[in-house]
Amino acid sequence: MSNSEVSFENTEKAFITKDNQELKHSLWLFKLMGNPTLVKIFSKLIIFAIKIGLPVRLPIKLTIFKQFCGGESIEESKHIVNKLNVSNIGSILDYSVEGKENENDFCNTKDEILKIIKVAENNPAIPYTSLKITGIARLSLLEKLNSKQELNKEEILEFQKVRERLIEICNSASSSGVPIYFDAEESWIQDAIDTLAEEMMEINNKKTAIVLTTLQMYRWDRIDYLKGLLQKAQDKKFSIGIKLVRGAYMEKENLRASQLGYKSPIQSNKENTDIDFDKAVDICLENIDIVTLCAGTHNEASTMHLINKMAELKISNDHPHVYFSQLYGMSDHITYNLADAGYNVTKYLPYGPVKSVMPYLIRRAEENTGISGQMGRELKLIIEEKSRRQNSKLLSAAK
Ligand SMILES: Cc1cc2nc3c(=O)[nH]c(=O)nc-3n(C[C@H](O)[C@H](O)[C@H](O)COP(=O)(O)OP(=O)(O)OC[C@H]3O[C@@H](n4cnc5c(N)ncnc54)[C@H](O)[C@@H]3O)c2cc1C
Repeated sequence: MSNSEVSFENTEKAFITKDNQELKHSLWLFKLMGNPTLVKIFSKLIIFAIKIGLPVRLPIKLTIFKQFCGGESIEESKHIVNKLNVSNIGSILDYSVEGKENENDFCNTKDEILKIIKVAENNPAIPYTSLKITGIARLSLLEKLNSKQELNKEEILEFQKVRERLIEICNSASSSGVPIYFDAEESWIQDAIDTLAEEMMEINNKKTAIVLTTLQMYRWDRIDYLKGLLQKAQDKKFSIGIKLVRGAYMEKENLRASQLGYKSPIQSNKENTDIDFDKAVDICLENIDIVTLCAGTHNEASTMHLINKMAELKISNDHPHVYFSQLYGMSDHITYNLADAGYNVTKYLPYGPVKSVMPYLIRRAEENTGISGQMGRELKLIIEEKSRRQNSKLLSAAK
């Protein structure tokens, strides 16, 4: 199939693994999430209910969790991994536990990531894994590092342990041949994350990209950062892995900047974010010999831009340095149609105990709310598929 033949309109392919019951469930959920007031109230109520120990685990698990997560453990998520694999879609198992603050939790997260790497070794159904640095390091420690404040004796020891955990994870990723994405987080800790990511890339990416960093293109400084990183990689002779995203913390970023009175790191409008995303795609593809690119997006125009740029530069659909990725539970029309056209496609598949993945689920609910968000797209596609199925049932009954 040539690049120009890719279309995201085929809802039959997009929802091939969803039976009618599952489709109905998604329809109900996306309709519910379309109401911003309801999402705000529900988010607050659920956090409160969890805090005071009300039994909300099961209702959450059967609704929003089921839409966006694989399960509460690797084992429980395997049936989704297998289902995606049948359609040539890889899974990025993402241990989505957030907001932890003590050494015990950090060691547990590290052990869990080592487990994912073991499961993924020699398993094409799980081509990558991922890591949030705040899963293995205290946020305020990263904040202090970020602002270049001097660490006290205990903090120096604490940071040493963070590095040891990170080195253990990267060594395991490297020896198992399972590349790992470092997620991007808030700008007030991102310099610290970038420094760690660059150090790990330089050590582990001698032959191929084992460590991949994430660039949030809603930041106006990321194109310059990308150019600087490319220069470093060329000078020091290592490969770079780049996951491009737009960024998930825009409101929080703008609010903090205005409260503390500094210039917001966020672009002045969405158009500039879109322009920089596509510009970064071009830069990565033009340096494909030393860059492995993953486009983490649900944006059809950016996905099409990447497809067309690949064709223009004569990069094959399944080039091992180019991946497309969407979040599980969203934009199946992009994922399944790309996989069908022979591109490398993965789904970020979060998992973890219901209580611990709540911050992730709330971000998804907020992203899917309102007409400017994802809601319109998802809902429209589900409704289209539902009516396609109804029509084809009528047609086959008439035969
Ligand atoms: C596989 C994958 C991995 C991801 N990993 C990360 C990660 O590590 N870190 C992270 O932060 N996010 C991550 N995300 C989430 C991502 O950053 C976006 O929030 C989400 O994908 C929506 O953006 P979009 O490109 O899909 O499309 P769109 O729906 O076209 O764009 C929405 C995005 O545009 C930006 N935007 C909206 N309005 C404005 C405005 N007025 N001014 C400037 N920018 C604006 C915001 O970033 C918003 O989220 C990931 C997403 C995917 C699919």
